[in-house]
Amino acid sequence: MVLTDFPVVKTLPDPKSILSNKANLLKDEDFPVFEIADPPESKEASKAQEAIKDETIDEPCFEIKKTKLKGQGMFATRTILPGDLILREKPLVVMPDKVFQNDDMDEVEEWLEKRLNRLSAEDREKFFNLSDSKAELAGEDPTILGIFFTNDMNFIDDSAALFPTMARANHSCVPKADFITRPDLGVQDLVAVDKIEAGEEITISYLPASAEGSDVKNVRQSYTLEWYGFKCQCGACLAQV
Ligand SMILES: [Zn+2]
Repeated sequence: MVLTDFPVVKTLPDPKSILSNKANLLKDEDFPVFEIADPPESKEASKAQEAIKDETIDEPCFEIKKTKLKGQGMFATRTILPGDLILREKPLVVMPDKVFQNDDMDEVEEWLEKRLNRLSAEDREKFFNLSDSKAELAGEDPTILGIFFTNDMNFIDDSAALFPTMARANHSCVPKADFITRPDLGVQDLVAVDKIEAGEEITISYLPASAEGSDVKNVRQSYTLEWYGFKCQCGACLAQV
């Protein structure tokens, strides 16, 4: 796999642009409730839907466990083959790109708080169980924005969405899995791109479009350090001089 094939994990806008532009205030109507498209009606589409249902996983092929260095991680409980669907997950929160790009972090926080208040107690617990990498590094308490921006992924219409189980997959520059957005189903699929043996960690790439073409270890490592608070020590980074 070449690095340009890597998925884009949704990341914060450039912090410099946040400081330079405070005037871009959003109104309530700028915060549409994200709506998932109705299931397609046509015969062909419903056939496709049936085919997708057949793929649904009966028994999970992974478990979430603590790792030595990276908090929790996702591990295979049996051999997983390239192309296998590992996990299909609905989002907890979907932040439209317009909100995501808003420079006023207080407004973004207010938006997120409203969304979290609408979740069930169980879903809220799932949210607050996720990590805030920057706060952890600084020895501070996690914040809702920190949790969201540590764990969000690119989703439908360039939105940023939170998938509490998929969020447990750690980063590798040579990932074993890739996530695929399914706008027709309103879900995110995690699919194996390589053979994963039982007990092996299931990883994805957190690298963004701007860094994904880089085969330079330092570029990748400074990205993961800046945005996620760790210097990547994956097989590729350890092997590269
Ligand atoms: Zn790496």
